[in-house]
Amino acid sequence: MVFDLDMIKKFYAGYAGKLAAARKVVNHPLTLTEKILYTHLWKGNADEAYGRGKDYVDFAPDRVAMQDATAQMALLQFMQSGRTKVSVPSTVHCDHLIQAETGAVADLSRAKSQNKEVYDFLSSVSNKYGIGFWKPGAGIIHQVVLENYAFPGGMMIGTDSHTVNAGGLGTIAIGVGGADACDVMAGLPWELKFPKLIGVKLTGKLSGWTASKDIILKVAGILTVKGGTGAILEYFGEGATSLSCTGKGTICNMGAEIGATTSIFGYDKKMAEYLRGTARAEVADAADNLANELTGDPEVYANPEKYFDQVIEINLSELEPHINGPFTPDLAWPISKFADAVRENGWPEVLEVGLIGSCTNSSYEDITRAASIAEQATSKGLTARSEFTITPGSEQVRFTVDRDGYLKTFEKMGGVVLANACGPCIGQWARHSKDPNKKNSIVTSYNRNFAKRNDGNANTHAFVASPELTTALAIAGSLTFNPLTDYLTNDKGEKIKLEEPKGIEMPLKGFAVDDAGYQSPAADGSKIEVLVSPTSDRLQILDPFPAWEGTDINNLKLLIKAKGKCTTDHISMAGPWLKYRGHLDNISNNLLIGAVNFFNEKTNSVKNQLTGEYGPLPETQRAYKADGIGSVIVGDENYGEGSSREHAAMEPRHLGVRAVLVKSFARIHETNLKKQGMLAITFENKDDYNKVLEDDSIDITGLTSFSVNKPLVIHLNHKDGTSESFLVNHTYNEQQIEWFKAGGALNIIRKEFEN
Ligand code: SF4
Repeated sequence: MVFDLDMIKKFYAGYAGKLAAARKVVNHPLTLTEKILYTHLWKGNADEAYGRGKDYVDFAPDRVAMQDATAQMALLQFMQSGRTKVSVPSTVHCDHLIQAETGAVADLSRAKSQNKEVYDFLSSVSNKYGIGFWKPGAGIIHQVVLENYAFPGGMMIGTDSHTVNAGGLGTIAIGVGGADACDVMAGLPWELKFPKLIGVKLTGKLSGWTASKDIILKVAGILTVKGGTGAILEYFGEGATSLSCTGKGTICNMGAEIGATTSIFGYDKKMAEYLRGTARAEVADAADNLANELTGDPEVYANPEKYFDQVIEINLSELEPHINGPFTPDLAWPISKFADAVRENGWPEVLEVGLIGSCTNSSYEDITRAASIAEQATSKGLTARSEFTITPGSEQVRFTVDRDGYLKTFEKMGGVVLANACGPCIGQWARHSKDPNKKNSIVTSYNRNFAKRNDGNANTHAFVASPELTTALAIAGSLTFNPLTDYLTNDKGEKIKLEEPKGIEMPLKGFAVDDAGYQSPAADGSKIEVLVSPTSDRLQILDPFPAWEGTDINNLKLLIKAKGKCTTDHISMAGPWLKYRGHLDNISNNLLIGAVNFFNEKTNSVKNQLTGEYGPLPETQRAYKADGIGSVIVGDENYGEGSSREHAAMEPRHLGVRAVLVKSFARIHETNLKKQGMLAITFENKDDYNKVLEDDSIDITGLTSFSVNKPLVIHLNHKDGTSESFLVNHTYNEQQIEWFKAGGALNIIRKEFEN
C-alpha cells in the first residue's frame, strides 16, 4: 500500500466535528469547497468566517506531491530546514525529464542515463527524508496521484500547475511553488487567499462522440484563460454524477487553463468505484460513511445563484465535441463549426501529428474509447494518415491496456507508444519535422497549446481535443474531418463512416501492474547519504544565506531599473534554463536577462558602475558580489507576476542583491522574496521611481527599528553629488521581519528545530 490509510481515517474521524464548527461560523448551507477548506484550517476548528477573495488563511494540507523538475529546488531547500523527516506524506514523480523521440523503451533508457545524477539525487533525498519516490517510467505525477493518493474531502498541494487534476476524486488540490512545498513538508502552515466560488451545473448526459474533455473545452470557451482566477470551480448536478471519476479528473486538470485555483466534484458512486478499482476499498468504505458531507449541501445545489459567486450551466445532452485552439486553450470550436474556422483562418488543413494520452487524458476509459476508433479503422482498411502517438499516464494504465490488447490496436493503426511521461506535452519532444519553418498543425488530447509548448516551433498550430476525436482526425489526416458527418475512403476505395466511440470506464479484469515503479522510503533515513556530486552542473547543495548585519545598509549599487512588465519569466527564464533548476549558482546566470533596462531600453544590458561599461546583468551583479558590494533592483508595477517559482527570489539573493524596490509586487513573488531574507519594498509615492538614476548609490535606513507598518527610508546619492530621500513601504509582519533578520525563513525553521 503506497497511500497513508491511517492519515485518511484520522481525517475522516475528525471531519464531523470540524464541519460542525464551520457551520456555526459560516451560518449558511455549505458548498463542498467550503467544507474542505474549513476542515483543513491550520488552527483546527473554525472560529470565524472568511471573506471570499479577501482573507488570507493558513491551511494544513494532507499531502505534498512534486515533479522532478520542481522537486529539485524544493528538496534542496527542505534539506536546509534541519528536519529529519517530512511532516506530511509527500511524493516525488520522475516524469518531466524524459524526452520523446522514438518510443517508450529507447526514450526511457536514454533519459535514465542523461538524467542519472538528478534521479540519483531525488531517489536518495526521498529515501532519507521519508518521501515516496516514483521512478522514471512510473508515470505522470497527476495520474499517479489520482490512482494512489487523492481522496474525497482531502487537501493537497503539488509543485505543478496541473495538481488540480485530483479534484476528480474530490480532493482540493492546488499547484504551488517549491518554497511552499518545502514549508508544508517542514511542518509549517500554507497560506491561501480564501477563494471565490464558481458553480458549474451539469445537466443531461454525455453521448456519442462527446466526452468529458468537451465539458472543460466548453467551460474554457465560456470563462477564457483568466476567468477562473482566484476561484475554485465546483461541478454538480445529474450530469456531474454521471461522469466517470477519471473523466472528472480531465475536467479538473484543465481548470488550470482557465486560471482557476482548482476545481472539484462531490463524492459519488463513480468515485467509490474508482477507489475500489484502484485497490483502495478501505478509503471508499470510510468515505461512504460520510457520503452526504463529502459533497455540497442540497440547498446549495438547489439554489446555486445564492451560494456561488458565479454559476454556469451546461446541458451535456446538447454538448457537441469541441476542438480548442490554436495557440490558446480558450478558443473553443464545436466540431460542426471547426472545418469552416480552419479554412477561414488559413490554418494548415493537413494534420501532421495526433497525440493522445498525458496526465489529462490517459485513463482506461480514454484509451478504450480511442482504441474503439482505431479498431474500426484497421478492420475497415484504414490506417492513420498522420503520425500518431500514445502517452500512457502511468505504468498501471500502460500495463493494463497492453494486457487487454489496446496498445496493439494502436500500433496496427500506425501509432507509436511513448514512455509514461510528459514528453511532447512539455516540449520534451525530438519531433521529426521535414521543414520546421513551414506552418503545420497538430492535435493533442493534452491541456496546454501555447505557441512552442509541444515542439518549441512557433509555426506549429496546436489544437486540443478528446482522445477519440484526436484519433479520428489522425486517421483522416485532416483537421477539417468531422467524424459525425464525414466519410473516409479505404484502401479498396470504399466509403467508410466511423461509428461512435465505445469505452469501458474500469477494466473488466481489474487493473494490473508488474512493477509500478515505486520506491518506499527507508524507515530510518539517518544513515542515508544524499547523492550530489560536488562537480555537478545540475545540482548544488544550498548554503544558508547570511543573516542581516544588524545595521542600515549603505552604498548599494543600482543593478537595474526595470521598465514595464517584469514577470518571473523575465527574472528567471525557463526553456533551456530548466536544466539548472537544481543548481542555484548556474541558474543564477539567467538573473533578469529578460527585463528591459529603463535607461537604454535593452534587455540584459546594464551599466556596471565599477567600470562604466554596459554588460550582461548576471555578470554585472557577479562583479559587485566579488567586490563585496550589494545592489538594489528597481521595478515597475506588479513586479514578479507569473509563476510561483522561487528561483526568481533565490537568484538575486544568492548573487548579493539586498533589496527589490518596486511600484507594486505580485503577492506570491513578494512573499518568496521575504522567505529568502530579501528586502521587498514599495515606493510610497510611485513617482519616486523617476528619481532613481543609472549611476546612483543607494542607502536604506530605518532597518535598526524595522517594524510592522513603519516605512523605511531610501537615500539616492546621485553621481553629481546631489542626493534625494523618500519613504518606502513594506508589508512585513513580525514573523517576516524575523525572517529578514535571520537571513531567510529556512534559517529560522532550522534554528527552531535545533532548539
Ligand atoms: Fe504537465 Fe503535461 Fe506533464 Fe501533465 S503531462 S504534468 S500537463 S507536462
